[in-house]
Amino acid sequence: QSSTPEALRVVNLLQERNLLPPAPVPAPTPCLTQDLQKLNCSPEVFRSTLTSIPQTQSLLNKAKMPLGLLLHPFKDLSLPVVTSSTIVRCRFCRTYINPFVSFLDQRRWKCNLCYRVNDVPEEFMYNPVSRSYGEPHKRPEVQNATIEFIAPSEYMLRPPQPAVYLFVLDVSHNAVETGYLNVFCQSLLDNISSLPGDSRTKVGFITFDSTIHFYNLQEGLSQPQMLIVSDIEDIFLPTPDSLLVNLNESKELVQDLLKSLPNLFEKTMETQSALGSALQAAFKLLSPTGGRMSVFQTQLPNLGVGALQSREDPNQRASAKDIQHLAPATDFYKKLALDCSSQQVAVDLFLLSAQYCDLASLGCISRYSAGSVYYYPSYHHQHNPAQVERFQKDLKRYLTRKIGFEAVMRIRCTKGLSIHTFHGNFFVRSTDLLSLPNVNPDAGFAVQMSIEENLDDMQVVSFQAALLYTSSKGERRIRVHTLCLPVVNSLSDIFAGADVQAITGLLACMAVDRSVTASLSDARDAMTNAAIDSLMSYRQSVLTIQQPGLLVPACLRLFPLYILALLKQKAFRTGTSTRLDDRVFAMLQLKYQPLAYAMLMIHPALYRVDDLTDEGALNINERTIPQPRLLQLSVEKLSREGAFLMDAGIVIYLWIGRNCHSNFLTQVLGVPNYAAVPDNLYLLPELDTAESQRTRAFIGWLRDQRPFFPSLHIIRDESQLKASFMQNMIEDRTESALSYYEFLLHLQQQISK
Ligand SMILES: [Zn+2]
Repeated sequence: QSSTPEALRVVNLLQERNLLPPAPVPAPTPCLTQDLQKLNCSPEVFRSTLTSIPQTQSLLNKAKMPLGLLLHPFKDLSLPVVTSSTIVRCRFCRTYINPFVSFLDQRRWKCNLCYRVNDVPEEFMYNPVSRSYGEPHKRPEVQNATIEFIAPSEYMLRPPQPAVYLFVLDVSHNAVETGYLNVFCQSLLDNISSLPGDSRTKVGFITFDSTIHFYNLQEGLSQPQMLIVSDIEDIFLPTPDSLLVNLNESKELVQDLLKSLPNLFEKTMETQSALGSALQAAFKLLSPTGGRMSVFQTQLPNLGVGALQSREDPNQRASAKDIQHLAPATDFYKKLALDCSSQQVAVDLFLLSAQYCDLASLGCISRYSAGSVYYYPSYHHQHNPAQVERFQKDLKRYLTRKIGFEAVMRIRCTKGLSIHTFHGNFFVRSTDLLSLPNVNPDAGFAVQMSIEENLDDMQVVSFQAALLYTSSKGERRIRVHTLCLPVVNSLSDIFAGADVQAITGLLACMAVDRSVTASLSDARDAMTNAAIDSLMSYRQSVLTIQQPGLLVPACLRLFPLYILALLKQKAFRTGTSTRLDDRVFAMLQLKYQPLAYAMLMIHPALYRVDDLTDEGALNINERTIPQPRLLQLSVEKLSREGAFLMDAGIVIYLWIGRNCHSNFLTQVLGVPNYAAVPDNLYLLPELDTAESQRTRAFIGWLRDQRPFFPSLHIIRDESQLKASFMQNMIEDRTESALSYYEFLLHLQQQISK
C-alpha cells in the first residue's frame, strides 16, 4: 500500500531484537538514475555519510547527522591508466573531466563542480578505446569514476625522486631482549628484491642506543663500516654520501649488514634510548631526496632531545573519571614530523614494547608526516609467538606493498559544499590540499563538510579526490576518483539515504579529536547525543505515526548498536582496565583505517564454526569457503557445546566451549578432549579432515580480506585472553556499562522527554 522505500520502513528497536543481518551490511546505493549509478565510484573507495545530500545547511542541521566523506584513495585496484599529453581539466576550478560532466555539444563540456563551460581539446576528440574520432563522451575519462593518468612534466616541481628507504633501529638492551631485530633483518633479506623501486632505489640504516650508529655501505668496501656519533646534542652526518646507497650497487654489503646486525648488539648493556636524536639524524639524511623512514622502537625514549617521562598511572587504567594524558607531552615529535613533511619524508613507527612508551607523543611523528603506526604490545621472540607471526606478516606486506612518494591529495566538491575538517595521517597545506610525503595503499581518510551555499535547483552534486604522486618507478601519476550524489530537500529523503556505517566511522574520528582536545567524557556524551538527536529529529519530523517504543528508520536500525559498540571500544571505554598506549593506538587506528577495517574494530563479527557446512559457501580459486551467519555480540549466542570465531579486525579469537563436540576437538584442533587444548594456542593444525579444511579455509579467507595480519588466539574458559574476548560482547551488561537493551531504554527516555 505504501511507496515508502525499505530504508524508511519503521522499526521498533524495543520489539525487534534480532536486527543484525546474517551477512555484512552493504553500502547503500545512492538514489540516482541507473545511467549515472552504473558509472559511480565504488563505495570501497569513496562514500558519503549521507547518500542524499541536503539542499541547505539548515536542513542538514535539522537532520542532526554528520555530513562527510570516507576515502580509501590508494587501495589496491586494477584500474584504467591513461597516457595523454593534455589532461582535460576545467579551466576555472581545475576539476578533472569525469563521467558526471555534461557535453553541450561535440566541442564543449560543462563542469559538474563549478558549472562553467569548457572547450573539448582536439586530442580528446580521438577515442583510444574505439579508435574513432568525434565521440568525446566515450573517452575512458568519462566512462570511469576511478582512473589514473600518467602526468606530463608540468605536474612536477623537480624530477621524480627515486624510491629511498631508511631503517632506524633501536638496539638498546631492551630491544635486543625482545629479539625483534632477527625477524626484521630476515624479513628484509627475504624481501629485498621486492621492495618497490627501480635501478635508482636507495637504502640506508641507522641503529641507536645512547649514541647514533651510521653505516657506510659504499660500493667497493669489503664490509659495512659502522660510524658512531656520540655527541647526540649536535648530530652531524659523518659521511653524507655513502650512508644512503644504491641498492643494486651495494646489495651484497646491505645483505652482509642484515646478516650481522642481530649479533652485533647481542651483549649490549646500553639501557638508554636517544630516539629523538636518531630521528633528527635520519631526517638530515633523507632531506635531500625525501623517502620513507621506518622506525623500530621498543621503549620510552629517555635520553637527549625528545626524551619522555612515564605519564601513565596504572591505578587510573580503569578510571570511570577522565582519562589523562591522551594529548602529546611535547611538540618535539609533531614539529619534526612537519619538518619531515616539508622535505617529502614520511615516518612509519613500529612500536614493540611491553612497557608504556607514550604513544600519544610518539605517534605524532607518523600522524603529521602521512606515515603509519604499527603496535606489538609485549612483543617477545619466545614468549609471544603470535605477535612474532603478526610482525613477520605485517613486515612482508609493508616491505612489498606499492608506495607513492611526494604526493598531494585534493578533494573538490560541487560549488556550495565545503570541507572543514580532515581525519587521517597527513599535513593540511591549504584548505583542501593534503600533503602526503608517502601514500600507502592501506591508508584511509575522512572529511567533514558543510553546505555554505544552498544547492537550489541542483539535481546532483559531485566530489572528486585527486591524488598526485611519484610511483616507485619514477613516474608522476594522478589517480582520480569521482562520486556523484543526488540532492534532496526533505528530511525523509535525507534519512532514507543515511549510510549507518559511514556515519559511525565519521563519528568515531570526531570522537577521537574530542577526547584529545576536550575530554573522553565529552567525546562519549557527544556520541550518545548523536544517536539521540538524529533519532529525535526523525521522530519529530519524519515519522507520521506516533506510537510508543524506540522508532527508527530501517536504514538506521543498527545505529544505536554501533554507538554502544563505540562506547565500549578500547578507544573510548571507561571502567575497564585499559593501558594508555593500547587506548591511544585504538584511537590512531580509528582515524586512519579504511572504513571496512574500522567497522570490525568497532563491531567485531561473531560466527559459530563447529558446524561449518558447504551450504551457501563461496568458491574461490577452487577452494570452498564456508559462509556462516553473523551472530549478535552477546553471551546468549554462545553455546558450551560449540566453538565460536570472533573477528575483531587486528585479532581473531576462537573460543572453545567447555562441552565442545569432540568431533571439533579431534578433527579441527587435533586434541582428544577439552582439557587437552593447550594454553596460548595460536595455530590450527593442518589436519587432513573436511572439518579442519573448512575451518582453515574460512580463517584464511578472512585474513585475505585485509592488508594486515590478524593473529589468531584459541581460547578456553581458563585462558587469560578470555576477558578480551568477552569484552567484545557489547550487547551484554557489565559492572560499568549498559547492556544493549538498557541503552535502548536510555535513548528512548531521552528522545521522548
Ligand atoms: Zn569547474
